[in-house]
Amino acid sequence: MKNNETPTSLIIIFGATGDLAKRKLFPSLYKLYEKGRLTDRFAVIGVARRSISNDEFQESIQESVKSAAGKEEHVQEFASHFYYHSHDVTDSDSYSALKKLASELDDHYGLNGNRIFYLAMAPEFFGTIALHLKKDGLTEVDGFKRLVIEKPFGHDLDSAKELNNQIRTAFQEDEIYRIDHYLGKAMVQNIEVIRFANAIFEPLWNNRYISNIQVTSSEILGVEERGRYYEKSGALRDMVQNHMLQMVSLLAMEPPIKLNTKEIRSEKVRVLRALRPIEGEDVHNFFVRGQYGEGEINGEHLRGYRQEPMVEEDSNTETFVAGKLLIDNFRWAGVPIYIRTGKRMGTKSTKIVIQFKDIPMNLYYQTEKTLNPNLLVIHIQPEEGITLHLNAKKAGENMDATPVKLNFSNKESDGINTPEAYEKLLYDCMRGDATNFTHWDEVALSWSFTDKISAVWEKTKENFPNYPSGTTGPKKADELLEKDGFFWWPITDLEVTNC
Ligand code: NAD
Repeated sequence: MKNNETPTSLIIIFGATGDLAKRKLFPSLYKLYEKGRLTDRFAVIGVARRSISNDEFQESIQESVKSAAGKEEHVQEFASHFYYHSHDVTDSDSYSALKKLASELDDHYGLNGNRIFYLAMAPEFFGTIALHLKKDGLTEVDGFKRLVIEKPFGHDLDSAKELNNQIRTAFQEDEIYRIDHYLGKAMVQNIEVIRFANAIFEPLWNNRYISNIQVTSSEILGVEERGRYYEKSGALRDMVQNHMLQMVSLLAMEPPIKLNTKEIRSEKVRVLRALRPIEGEDVHNFFVRGQYGEGEINGEHLRGYRQEPMVEEDSNTETFVAGKLLIDNFRWAGVPIYIRTGKRMGTKSTKIVIQFKDIPMNLYYQTEKTLNPNLLVIHIQPEEGITLHLNAKKAGENMDATPVKLNFSNKESDGINTPEAYEKLLYDCMRGDATNFTHWDEVALSWSFTDKISAVWEKTKENFPNYPSGTTGPKKADELLEKDGFFWWPITDLEVTNC
């Protein structure tokens, strides 16, 4: 299991008994270990409040790895690198004991003073932890120190700034790895390659040839047990501020002069800077919010959002957002980018549809229909792949055209939040590659965009619930496109099928 290319490191996971650690982080570390991407010179300290022994912790590691990764080889050996430290992060006294354990492991495994601090905990603790890490000397190391931080990064621009200031007291911007797990998805990473490695797309990737872009991320799941968190968040903060705007910036960015972190991020930032702010009355014309009511999915009757645990009976929280974005630059002027995301929709899917403009003169007709526009569909999840929708001659003697699809299907993978994404991101962090993490400038620009929408929505109550569970969202989301002469491409018709 040796690979000298991955630096040695001590990974300190705060929140090590939590859901994220068990379902994503431990299995991802194990996969890296199994693939030889983690050298034998690594150690993990799990920090959480519960009082458990090292042995119990290592057993729980083995359990989570077996149930998630489904393999048993080397599991015990892998788990032996894990140590547990019971510690309330708000208690100043126990950081010195953590420091001592970290130094001992550093010596024992020969970790060269490299440390990764992974905050898999509620964001309210991030600032406190960062301040203590500095004050109690855990960040005084000979090697690298990196902070990995989960979403949500603040609640709005002001709280994000406050949090950023706190963590910046202990870490430089280039030491902070803000996770957006969408950026770890294979097909999200593929957006750049599809665009910049193919001569046939880039010349068409502008307002002369593209009529509109549609980005959909729909979930079948409701809010589940996360009502308390979700009531304060809603779909705009939970999905649009981060994942949706990240996908838009990758789709719209200019080719970077080099494929390195600095250049790619700076092109993404330029997209966010060119994003037209939607504020005041315009919010009602450019954005639609929704909340699911009761309904049926796969024969199961489901309750509405307001009936979910820890949700107010008259909640004004949106579980669905659709919006029209405009990027005011030379390439994109006039091309609407429609986004929509929601819970309890009929299908689980994340897809990007690039709709090309109609050809100047249509010589061919499909029976009773006009010619279909060309579409490039990027399937992010659950299927991964790309489909190009073209028109070709229909079999038979006449010259009618019929739609055909060219498919590339990557692989079947289950779930948006799959360990695969975390595996890639953890590996990137260990190697010091921050490209697929969000820079502070991106976070700040995204909050400043969504804050203007929240400001209007917080002042007015919507007539919720306004879409039944199992549907595609409120009717107004369809009208948003109809006003412009477009419609949402039905997600199910765009599935990867072999033709
Ligand atoms: P969780 O509630 O399951 O786990 C929280 C962990 O923090 C537990 O280990 C708990 O013991 C520990 N903890 C709480 N208070 C503590 C204290 N005062 N001192 C020490 N430890 C304390 O939460 P989770 O689902 O694992 O999520 C963690 C973070 O990751 C959150 O910010 C969440 O928004 C984010 N996140 C989670 C997921 C996921 O799939 N679970 C996905 C994306 C982002």
